[in-house]
Amino acid sequence: MSLIIQKYGGSSVASTDHIRRVAMKVASTKIRGNKIAVVVSAMGGQTDQLLALAAEITNNPPGREQDALVATGEQVCAALMAITLESLGHKAKSLLGLQLPLITDDVHTRARITEMQTGKIAQILDEDIIPVVAGFQGITADGSITTLGRGGSDTTAVALAASLKADCCEIYTDVEGVYTADPNICPKSRHIKKISYQEMLELAGLGANVLHSRAVELAQKYQVPLVVKSSFGGEKETWIVNEEEVMENSIIKGVTLEKNVSKISLIRVPDRPGIAHRILSPLAEAAINVDMIIQNASIDGYTDFTFTIPTTDLSKAKELISEVAREIDAEKMLAANNIVKVSAVGIGIKTNPGVASRMFHSLSAENINIEMISTSEYRISCVIEEKYGELAVRAVHKAFDLDNVKEETEI
Ligand code: ADP
Ligand code: ASP
Ligand code: MG
Repeated sequence: MSLIIQKYGGSSVASTDHIRRVAMKVASTKIRGNKIAVVVSAMGGQTDQLLALAAEITNNPPGREQDALVATGEQVCAALMAITLESLGHKAKSLLGLQLPLITDDVHTRARITEMQTGKIAQILDEDIIPVVAGFQGITADGSITTLGRGGSDTTAVALAASLKADCCEIYTDVEGVYTADPNICPKSRHIKKISYQEMLELAGLGANVLHSRAVELAQKYQVPLVVKSSFGGEKETWIVNEEEVMENSIIKGVTLEKNVSKISLIRVPDRPGIAHRILSPLAEAAINVDMIIQNASIDGYTDFTFTIPTTDLSKAKELISEVAREIDAEKMLAANNIVKVSAVGIGIKTNPGVASRMFHSLSAENINIEMISTSEYRISCVIEEKYGELAVRAVHKAFDLDNVKEETEI
């Protein structure tokens, strides 16, 4: 008898009709002789609606209360799923993060799991009851509700699979797995049958939100067999596996678009030792993740300093940086959120010179200006104006010969 964790995302549980269809899928997996635990996201659009309610009051709600608010989305869905399973004649019990409990640190809105207790859920499974876990949420050691960051239900599912030593973690969504680019942006993207944890981690971290990057990280660490499938039918699926199991070795595995990007520039900053630390340390203390950093060449002892952060942290970061700007006597602070990051990802990048210039050429051919660049062994990223984001994905995808020329090609 196998133990399977099935996670259903927001679009798969968007209405009670959707929930009924998913419940039937869960039931049939159980009837085939498996043990099954279900993890659900909030019903599609619910998390955004809850956040919009808070935004009617303030741009900067306290993280603790924002978490208490959005966690209700998953609570509603888990209860509805358990009610539906019961109505179909299967015993089911909903479980919140605080009931498992799934313990996290106290970094609200993007908490990390510190401990997943499995006693309760294991007992429910032993009693032949289907546990329905509310994804995305946890509780701190001192009892505050937390969430794991947008898309975090995937991480709940993988953490559960790792702790229960499940045979497989199945992520059900609205596409048939992972593609060489978001199929909703790039119709010529190709389906990927197998992708390494490392490449998937890069794709997920750079905007391919089909999987939460922390989920991929945990799956690699605990070697959880992880598969992405569509809950709307379709034969295809994508397995996330170790690098040596991937036969196909294209230079670029995929192209991503990250939309949640903003930049802050400090103009005419005195160029002296310790300045970068002065600017960035308040952000580190506030757990704000700084991504790309550019410091211009110094002229007359002054320089300009620009960095990118997630847009969700922009208003907090502006508050912190305007104070630093005063302290260090910068001329002014500029902030912009009309930018996006386009990235080409693949393990072939480290061994293939010329990848960067091919990417830059494809953007210039579309007259797209590159504002910032960063590279690593596995990726090249360019910050560009938001309005060109989707065009840029298609251009870069084509430039690396990823476009699907025949109907439905897979790699
Ligand atoms: P769920 O609510 O099921 O968790 P998400 O919206 O979080 O669904 O993730 C699925 C979406 O991820 C797809 O609809 C697709 O638009 C997007 N996506 C982005 N990049 C990719 C990619 N490389 N392959 C597949 N889907 C992608
Ligand atoms: N409901 C949460 C979100 O919309 C978590 C998830 O869907 O995984 O981000
Ligand atoms: Mg998701």
